Amino acid sequence: MPYQSSTLTQIVQFGVVNAYLVREDDGLTLIDGLIGNQTKRILAAAERMGAPIKRVTITHAHPDHVGAIDKILAAVPDAEFVVGERESKSLNAHVKLEPGEPKGLILPGNAGVKTVPNRLVNAGDTIGSLQVHAAPGHSVGQVAFLDPRDGTLICGDAYSTVGGVATTAGPYLKFPLPGSFTWHKPTALETAKALRALDPSRLAPGHGRVVEQPGAAMDAAIARKS
Ligand SMILES: [Zn+2]
Repeated sequence: MPYQSSTLTQIVQFGVVNAYLVREDDGLTLIDGLIGNQTKRILAAAERMGAPIKRVTITHAHPDHVGAIDKILAAVPDAEFVVGERESKSLNAHVKLEPGEPKGLILPGNAGVKTVPNRLVNAGDTIGSLQVHAAPGHSVGQVAFLDPRDGTLICGDAYSTVGGVATTAGPYLKFPLPGSFTWHKPTALETAKALRALDPSRLAPGHGRVVEQPGAAMDAAIARKS
């Protein structure tokens, strides 16, 4: 069952691909856009929460996280489109490494998101209540979001929970997909540690179920390096 609370709705596609709606006083923040055009499904989930989508953001610009982003923003034109500054460069262009960034796996093609963000954010900035945290490794500019109201960490593909909590820093045999598309595994492992240090009360990943009190499982994943 998709996770549902008064502040967080998980939207699940194909059983393993997640988007999230986060409730704020003025409406909802959509995080990630699933695969293909899931606009109707996302809008229906917002309607069930009884609030308008006010902000749209992504954890990272991979195709399984941005499918409906352009169409949602067209359907909700007043919503603010907020993207991590580094990752914004990969929205509609092939990833190009910048000085100081290690060589790694760069996926062919690009995310194909044509809408230009209204606002770019970096670590320390906020989107509604959500604190932006740098979470590079799986992609060059991935970000994660911590909701300080209840300790929920929306971590993109820094961790997945399909088959158990795993980082994307190594080949996790029970669900190798996210780890197989990781740009730079040592960076992904550093990010896994940094996110663990936030001591989240709940882990809401890009793939897999929402996990309560994930600390021990995150420790085990970091120790395993996958
Ligand atoms: Zn993914």
